[in-house]
Amino acid sequence: MKADLVIRNARVVTHAGEFHGGVAVEGERIVAVAADDALPNGTREIDADGLALLPGVIDPHCHLGVNYPYDEDMRDQTAAAASGGITTILLYIRNKAESYIPFYEERRAVGEENVHIDFGFHFGIQREEHVYEIPRIVEETGVRSFKLYFGYEPDNPIGIVPATDGWVYATMRTVAGIPGGVVSVHCENTGIATWLKGELMATGRQDLGAYTESRPAFCEVETVQRMITLAELTGCPLYVVHTTAAGAPPLAELARARGVDVTIETCPHYLTRTCYDEDLDMRAKISPPLRDRNEVEGLWRAIFAGQVRSLGSDHVPFFPKKGEDLWKEKPGIVSFPWELPLLITEGVHKRGLPLSRLVEMNSYTPARRFGLYPRKGALQPGADADLVLVDLDGEREVVHAGKGTCIYEGMKLRGWPVLTVARGRVVYENGEVDPDAAGRGQCVTRPSGVPA
Ligand SMILES: [Zn+2]
Repeated sequence: MKADLVIRNARVVTHAGEFHGGVAVEGERIVAVAADDALPNGTREIDADGLALLPGVIDPHCHLGVNYPYDEDMRDQTAAAASGGITTILLYIRNKAESYIPFYEERRAVGEENVHIDFGFHFGIQREEHVYEIPRIVEETGVRSFKLYFGYEPDNPIGIVPATDGWVYATMRTVAGIPGGVVSVHCENTGIATWLKGELMATGRQDLGAYTESRPAFCEVETVQRMITLAELTGCPLYVVHTTAAGAPPLAELARARGVDVTIETCPHYLTRTCYDEDLDMRAKISPPLRDRNEVEGLWRAIFAGQVRSLGSDHVPFFPKKGEDLWKEKPGIVSFPWELPLLITEGVHKRGLPLSRLVEMNSYTPARRFGLYPRKGALQPGADADLVLVDLDGEREVVHAGKGTCIYEGMKLRGWPVLTVARGRVVYENGEVDPDAAGRGQCVTRPSGVPA
């Protein structure tokens, strides 16, 4: 037997551990994961020369088509993702129309025409009708993941409709009965954040720290606790997106010990930057905000304690930020190409995080949480051949050329992806993304019974 692609002589890392060997691929799937002498020959053979071979990164949290046209974002941003070793992205998308069905059909079709890698959706609850539509959405789109937003004051600059506890309770009550269903919540206390924003605005401050201080960490911790209470009452799985506060993960862990199915996600920026970093200004506004060094280190401790189980990029390309008014600035940054190098540099090299833990957080847990495992997030025969080869010692400076705001420009990072395989196809190598890969990705959230 001859496989299409064989990568051998690698340090193969999964969430469960590592060994020396490689992976054989036929078509879009993995056919063997083994020591070198047990692998078949391949039409294309790659000698990894000891580099680390990981499952492709599954980024469960990004936003595309928010400011720039959706088709354009799906094309150029997924190319950036492929260069960062990301092989699947899940988009949190919002729609204020009564129904999500036409929106899904349009977004899926346009996405499939443009993407370099696989993608799927979570839907934001933005009006009562969306809660009632959940069973039909599941049936007709296959999307089983719904998001509710707190912390957005009535005049927020991106037009998000904030949730009420009623919406959350009703959504969770419905989703609890859906196999594989999960509810994500942006946890910040809307009322307190709105009040404090008024106070901080009145001081005339325009520094990034003022934005952070207008929505303190306790706003997040309080809402995480409240959402855990509702998840426990309803029996609904809860995914806490973009956690910034070190006080939140221990609450989730206590709840897990009581049997509540709750997962804490954080993002690379909350693990690497603070709102008081001297090179950052209001353009580094993110929702929720960057915090101080204590919270950063507290989040790392929560990772080492096993309390933070998932990583998302929260990548969102906005038009160039104006840097004129802190309170009107749109929140959000881009990070697809640097997520893996940031985590390897700050986690693996600097703090001794085992690579298998990194794989657990950026492939295995997102795949399981959002119903993609073991087709994705696993290195085993039958799984999609989503792979990334990483040079752990390669050192390079961050240079940002594309859309959106980058808060890492000029940082020296060690540990870069050198080759990315998405469903069997090499989409990134020698520093280049294959332009012919655009339109080859597939939507992974699809109605059941429709084959991929
Ligand atoms: Zn987000």
